[in-house]
Amino acid sequence: MSQASPPKQAPRKLQVLQNVQLTPHLQRLTLGGPELQGFPVPSNGAHIKLLLPQQGQALTLPTVGPKGLIWPPAQDRPVVRTYTVRQFDAEQQKLIVDFVIHDEYGPASYWAQHAQIGDDVGLAGPSGPARFNPNADYFLLAGDLSALPALSTVLEDLPEHAIGTALIEIPSAADQHNLQHPAGINIVWLVSATPSALLPQAVLDLPWPEESVSATVAGETEAVVQIRKYLRINKKLNVSHCYIVPYWKYQHSEEAYHDERHRIMDEVLTPT
Ligand SMILES: Cc1cc2nc3c(=O)[nH]c(=O)nc-3n(C[C@H](O)[C@H](O)[C@H](O)COP(=O)(O)OP(=O)(O)OC[C@H]3O[C@@H](n4cnc5c(N)ncnc54)[C@H](O)[C@@H]3O)c2cc1C
Repeated sequence: MSQASPPKQAPRKLQVLQNVQLTPHLQRLTLGGPELQGFPVPSNGAHIKLLLPQQGQALTLPTVGPKGLIWPPAQDRPVVRTYTVRQFDAEQQKLIVDFVIHDEYGPASYWAQHAQIGDDVGLAGPSGPARFNPNADYFLLAGDLSALPALSTVLEDLPEHAIGTALIEIPSAADQHNLQHPAGINIVWLVSATPSALLPQAVLDLPWPEESVSATVAGETEAVVQIRKYLRINKKLNVSHCYIVPYWKYQHSEEAYHDERHRIMDEVLTPT
């Protein structure tokens, strides 16, 4: 089994400042501490790696040696998981991460549910590609709850006159909540307890706009792969107008899915 991509630079050690439940399946953690100093701006929507303690242990982070990072032995090694900067407030020195609380045990979901004020967490990054193309005329957003932090930052960063549609698949109706978005973006909530059950068809059913389209698509792999094929091959959408990233795979941990995720990302799709 391969590791989730480990960070290459020394991670920052941050502390939990606040932990609140936003909806039944979404937990919001605010992180801060002296080592957040210098975190780059803007970074809302960027990818980050979180380094979490193994269950019941204190956090042991890798240190920097002459040949790169020196990792603690396996029994102390932190669990690495990929998340999104939901919001970074440089003035207040606070960084918000929204975690999906899912039914199957996962170290990150469990940690987020149980984290106490003052608990340590490692953070590496930010990184990642642009989440939308500002030169497009129509904005298509599609994703599940894991993608909602990224989609929310796109909705907040789009120009006020932007038009488009955001399709958001959530595991229960109670996970629906208010989002800040331009008036011209139609928000559609799709409720399904089965991941990827409704999202691909909802994208296919959208009347295709005449204008140039920017697509932001993320979430469970089955939906993302189907939507990507449709947009890139059927709709001939150029890569410059696509942020299409599989975030997780049903019944696979991040370690188990790591290599496949990168294979999918590297695959070249050519319109026929
Ligand atoms: C670039 C990027 C950004 C991401 N941003 C976020 C983010 O901001 N918020 C967020 O919550 N997730 C985000 N994710 C997804 C997150 O990394 C995965 O969901 C991760 O697997 C969670 O780790 P875990 O330890 O909870 O579960 P794992 O140990 O990885 O998996 C354990 C089990 O839980 C299942 N599982 C994992 N995630 C989910 C889920 N979302 N819903 C239902 N079942 C699940 C798995 O299929 C597996 O069976 C992002 C992923 C990427 C690649």
